[in-house]
Amino acid sequence: MRDKNICLIYTGGTIGMERTAQGYAPMRHFAMVLSQLLREHSNSLPQYTLRQFEAPIDSTNATPEDWCRIAHDIASCYQQHDAFVVLHGTDTMAYTAAALSFMLRGLRKPVILTGSQIPMLELRSDAPQNLIGAMQLAARDDIHEVAIYFSQRLLRGNRATKLSAQRLDAFDSPNYPKLAEVGIEVAMNSAALLPCPDRECFELPSYACGQVVPLRFVPGLPLQAVQALLDLDPKALILQGHGAGNVPDRDPALREMLRAASERGVVLACGSQAPQASVQLHAYATGSVLDGAKVVGTADMTFEATFAKLHHLFALGLTADEVRLALLRDLSGELTIR
Ligand code: ASP
Repeated sequence: MRDKNICLIYTGGTIGMERTAQGYAPMRHFAMVLSQLLREHSNSLPQYTLRQFEAPIDSTNATPEDWCRIAHDIASCYQQHDAFVVLHGTDTMAYTAAALSFMLRGLRKPVILTGSQIPMLELRSDAPQNLIGAMQLAARDDIHEVAIYFSQRLLRGNRATKLSAQRLDAFDSPNYPKLAEVGIEVAMNSAALLPCPDRECFELPSYACGQVVPLRFVPGLPLQAVQALLDLDPKALILQGHGAGNVPDRDPALREMLRAASERGVVLACGSQAPQASVQLHAYATGSVLDGAKVVGTADMTFEATFAKLHHLFALGLTADEVRLALLRDLSGELTIR
């Protein structure tokens, strides 16, 4: 374990926060707190080098540009390290993990994101366990992907989603098995891991903000809301349907709106609001509202993975038709091909 050299990247999040009059905010001297904790365990942990955001953030403020920055950080010192542990806020950790998995395709080393629900310096904090567990897993030789380690579970990063703001086991991957469970022993689920690729094929294009917008269907959603989003002229609209990806079909104006948007080159992707789902756009007759608009069902991808993947595909310069096709290609284990 000591012969491994991990790059620890601190970006912010509850793990390094303290109470202020306004609520939790990143503390100033977290690097010191972190090194104190790790010094106590230095004989049984891999060596590490710490890098950190100049101004650590609450991940609620993260943008696609921050995803790119973390990916660049990793790529820039990839050769000098055996693995990467990214300390990140839990709120948008799944988005960052998904984006990293697309930019750092063909990873041959572990990239593990973690954080905590309770700040490191508070009583009962889950930070030490999560951090130490992530570092121990990062020292392994059988992980070749971006993963999230949280509350004794290792999850594929682009399959994970934050399901709880209260429980210490905040994350799960409802459509994919856990990569490992850490109890007294580490139980790796070897069959679920990505195989070690022959070589890395990182793609680090610059992501633009504001080009992919979500539309959550709720009962009685006014069509002006749909139109208002389309008026933003996005490159893609993610329709968050119900159940199997179901969208209401009573109002013919919606069909026309979607058809016209698609004709203008907007990519329409349709997923489900249910965390555990595999989209089937024509399971119900209502699905016909999507006909003629080239809508792509997002299979069993998480919303976070769909959102990050669309950013990635557009940043690569693909046309709308190419994006429609590529969305259903498996880039980094984010979807199940049936
Ligand atoms: N708001 C925090 C963040 O995402 C929550 C957390 O880290 O748990 O940065």
